[in-house]
Amino acid sequence: MPNSAAPNPTAPPTAATATAAAPVGAPVGGHPDRCPECSAPVDPDPRFTAWCPACEWNLVPAEEAGEDAARSAKELARERAAAERTERLFEDVVAGRADTTRRDWLAASALAVPVHLVTVAVTGSGLWLLVIGNTPLRCLGALLLAVAFLLRPRLGRVPSGQGVLTRAEAPALYGLADRIAAELGAPPIGVIQVDESFNASMAVVGLRRTSVLTLGLPLWETLDGPQRIAVLGHELAHRVNGDHRQGLWLGSAMRSLAHWHDLSLPRERTAPGYGVVALLTMIGDYFGNAFLHLLSGLLFRAYLVLDRLTARAGQQAEYHADELGARVGSTGAARESLAAVLLRAAAGTVTMRLRAEIQSRPRSGRRDAAPGPDTDALWPQLRAHLAAIPPLERERLLRRSRRSGHAVDASHPPTHLRIAALARRTPVPAAVVCPPEEAAAIDTELAPHRTRVARTLLAG
Ligand SMILES: [Zn+2]
Ligand SMILES: [Zn+2]
Repeated sequence: MPNSAAPNPTAPPTAATATAAAPVGAPVGGHPDRCPECSAPVDPDPRFTAWCPACEWNLVPAEEAGEDAARSAKELARERAAAERTERLFEDVVAGRADTTRRDWLAASALAVPVHLVTVAVTGSGLWLLVIGNTPLRCLGALLLAVAFLLRPRLGRVPSGQGVLTRAEAPALYGLADRIAAELGAPPIGVIQVDESFNASMAVVGLRRTSVLTLGLPLWETLDGPQRIAVLGHELAHRVNGDHRQGLWLGSAMRSLAHWHDLSLPRERTAPGYGVVALLTMIGDYFGNAFLHLLSGLLFRAYLVLDRLTARAGQQAEYHADELGARVGSTGAARESLAAVLLRAAAGTVTMRLRAEIQSRPRSGRRDAAPGPDTDALWPQLRAHLAAIPPLERERLLRRSRRSGHAVDASHPPTHLRIAALARRTPVPAAVVCPPEEAAAIDTELAPHRTRVARTLLAG
C-alpha cells in the first residue's frame, strides 16, 4: 500500500526519531521555548524535535536535511519537475479531470512490444540455429538460448515457507480478506504472507497470476480494526483499480528492462598487470565497459519512458484504491492508516532501543542475571510508543513528507496528497466491520508470526 520503497524498521533511525525515543522527561539540549525565526511559542516537549508550526522553522532538522543536500542540482531539478507533475495530477484527480488513463496505458503497452520482441527474437534465433545449423552454428544457437534464459521475463514466484499463511492456518484472516474483496468486486486473495516491514503490499505473480498480499506485522500490529480493513481494502483494490503495472504484458516488460539494466551495468576492471596479455585485457575491458555503459544507459532511458508513461495512470489508480479502501474501512480509518505510515522511523527507533536493551542484558545462567525484556515485549512497546506520539509531532511528519515526499516513490503518490485527496471527498462509513471475536481469532492466527518476526527484528 503505502510505499514500495519503504525502508524496514530495522533501518538505523535518524537523529530526529532518536530524539522521539528519548525517555519521558529527558532534557534535550537547546530545546527553545520560542521560535528563533518568528517568536511564536514552541512546544516544550523535549522528546520530540522542536519546530514552529507557524513559520515551519526546523521542520526538517539539519541532520535530516543532509539527505537533500547530498543530491546534485540536476537530481533536485528532476525531482522538482516530478513534484509539479504529481501536484497537477492531484488537482486533476480531485477535480475529476484525469481522463488520459486509457491513452497512457495503450501507449505504454505498445512500447512493451519491442521489449518482448527482443526476448522472442533471441529465443527464436537460438532454436532456429539449433535445428538447421552445422556444429558451430548449433553452438551459437545454444549460446543464444542461454542468453534468452537470462533475458526471460520475470513473473515472480508464489512464496512458500516462513511467513506464508495458508487458508487452513488463518481462516479468520482469509475470511475477512474475502469479505472485503467481495465488497470491492475483486477476486479472492491467493496467498497472504507476513513479514517484518512497516508496510503492506500486493503483487500478482507466476504464469497463473496468483495474487500475493504481504502484511508487514510492525504496521499491522499498530493499526486498529477499521484501519486494518482500510489497508486490506487498498491492497485488494489493486485487482480492480485499473492498474496495469502488475499485469502480465506491461509488468513483465518493465521488470525485464530493469533486470536487463542490472545485467548490463559495467563490471569492475581487472587489476592491471604487465605484458601483452594484461594490455589486451585492459583494452578489452575498456571497450567492453564502454559498450555496457552505452547499453545500460539506453535501457535505463527506455525504462524511464515506460515509467513516465505509466506513472500518471498508476498514481491515479492508487488514488482510486485509497477511495476503495475508504469504502470498506471508512474515510477516517483510511486517512489514519495513511498517516500511520509516516511513523515508520519512530517504529524503527522502538525496535532499535529494545534490541539494545536485550543485548545489554546479563546472560541468563548467571546467578545475578536480572530478568530483562522479552522479544514479545516489542509489540506492546511499539503500540504504546506510536500511540503516545502527540498531534504536533504527527503534524511535523506530515508537513515534512509534503516537503520531501515527492522523491520517495514514483509508484504511489506522496502520502500527504493521498490523505488530502481523501479529505476532499465526501466521508463514507465502513462497509465492512470486523467483530471483536473475529479480530481475536486473527490475533491468535498471527501469534506464532508475531514471535518469529519480533525475534528477527530484535536479532540484528
Ligand atoms: Zn497501492
Ligand atoms: Zn516560527
